[in-house]
Amino acid sequence: MTSHEFDVVVAGAGTSGCYAAATIAHEGYDVVVVERKDAEEAGHIACGDALKGADAFPEAIPKEKLEPAFTNTGVDHGRFEIPQEDTVLEIPVPGELAVIDRWEYGRCIIQGAKDAGATFHYDTVIQDVTQDDDGVVTGLTANRKGEPVEYEADIVIDGAGSLSLLQDTVDFSDATFDTNVNYSQFCSAYREIVHVEEPVEWDDALVFKPTERAAGYLWYFPRTDTEINAGLGFQMTEEPMELVDDLKKDLRDREEFQGAEVEDKLGAALPTRRPYDSAVAPGYMAVGDAAGHVNPTTGGGIAGAAYAGKYAGEQAIEAIEQGDVSEAMLWEYNERVMDHFGARYAALDVYNILSTAVDVDDLMGLLASLPGEKLAEALYEGSTEMSTLFKAKLAVKSFGYWRNILQFYRTKQCADDLMDHYEHYPSSPDEFEMWQSKRDTLMEAVYETTGAEPKY
Ligand SMILES: Cc1cc2nc3c(=O)[nH]c(=O)nc-3n(C[C@H](O)[C@H](O)[C@H](O)COP(=O)(O)OP(=O)(O)OC[C@H]3O[C@@H](n4cnc5c(N)ncnc54)[C@H](O)[C@@H]3O)c2cc1C
Repeated sequence: MTSHEFDVVVAGAGTSGCYAAATIAHEGYDVVVVERKDAEEAGHIACGDALKGADAFPEAIPKEKLEPAFTNTGVDHGRFEIPQEDTVLEIPVPGELAVIDRWEYGRCIIQGAKDAGATFHYDTVIQDVTQDDDGVVTGLTANRKGEPVEYEADIVIDGAGSLSLLQDTVDFSDATFDTNVNYSQFCSAYREIVHVEEPVEWDDALVFKPTERAAGYLWYFPRTDTEINAGLGFQMTEEPMELVDDLKKDLRDREEFQGAEVEDKLGAALPTRRPYDSAVAPGYMAVGDAAGHVNPTTGGGIAGAAYAGKYAGEQAIEAIEQGDVSEAMLWEYNERVMDHFGARYAALDVYNILSTAVDVDDLMGLLASLPGEKLAEALYEGSTEMSTLFKAKLAVKSFGYWRNILQFYRTKQCADDLMDHYEHYPSSPDEFEMWQSKRDTLMEAVYETTGAEPKY
């Protein structure tokens, strides 16, 4: 068996893996990214191609290196089509927004990590995580072009994406690492890249539309005014539906897609759940989709993956410099994730839970009665404030949905309480159990208010 030694081994050449590797390589440490795909396919990842907040992305990969992948920077709002209510909502999206060529972006981030000094091993399928007698992770084993290969490292960073295979093989029984992970906390998503003959009118918008049969949605994101990323996603709690058929039917019915040609097709799972309670174990950190770092209401995960990669990379460097890879040493990584976006995503998960319990038509009616900017706040900030006068106007407009609105407000209170609790995430593993227990009590109130089946 071929053996390699590195300071850090990173699983997966996605956004989280590339940002982690670039951060570590910048400081002069030896880091390898192990990727199952070949050099050409690496970076070709199922995505809606909407990139939010790239203006503030971590600097380990300079933003100008990503820019060649930005195919549409003129997008500034969401367009919610609600056929049940014969309504179209135009909702502003806060922060910088671009639609990208995801494959090209994949090449850019890989090149960015290489420029920083990271090594890439392609065609290498990870099979197992190695641990010493005390349970400390010591590396990986993999299969490279049919040959067994092993990697020894001080730290393993798991950026292997949704339902990471690494976590199936490792023993976390003595660690805080979150193993309460189930397929029903994920969304199934599929997308096509479609070429249309005539420019679309909505090339400045991300278009969303609810599916007819279950709590899912279709999207049309314009890479350019003639190249559209058309996709569909639904929570895996729903009865399986013919994903592709739903999308095909809508494409057939839309005038702008007459004579269109499909260029590329891809599908995958993405986490639509709260972030992992703890994404560390001795010698091990999980980043991005492998730790649930996705906005569970929009499915946007690129920004969370980039930041988690940076934070894990910085924590790995500190651990190596201190000669200590214990959970206590790696804990600050958990804290930084919760502090930056984890608390917000945990609060947003409450709305995802609500959406699995309410009737789609009721939800759409309610959405149609809400003003766009309030919806935008709820979607991205996890909370929204409303004045008394405003509430009164809303009450008139939303007649017929008052019962839902009351439930929505109670749910919002639960989400606010949860966010507050996550803002007091423990500063060491010692207080973790107590924090989790109080969080679980808050979740009971969420299930009671929404009427949803427990998700965790
Ligand atoms: C259809 C779809 C649409 C989406 N749309 C958007 C969007 O518009 N905007 C947005 O921000 N987010 C979107 N997301 C989410 C976003 O794509 C992810 O959150 C993001 O890619 C996560 O990055 P990551 O690095 O954690 O994982 P990934 O990008 O999934 O990378 C994981 C890498 O690990 C490799 N790997 C996995 N297993 C192994 C193994 N055993 N051995 C070696 N390598 C392995 C994979 O090949 C892959 O390269 C979408 C997701 C889907 C599925």
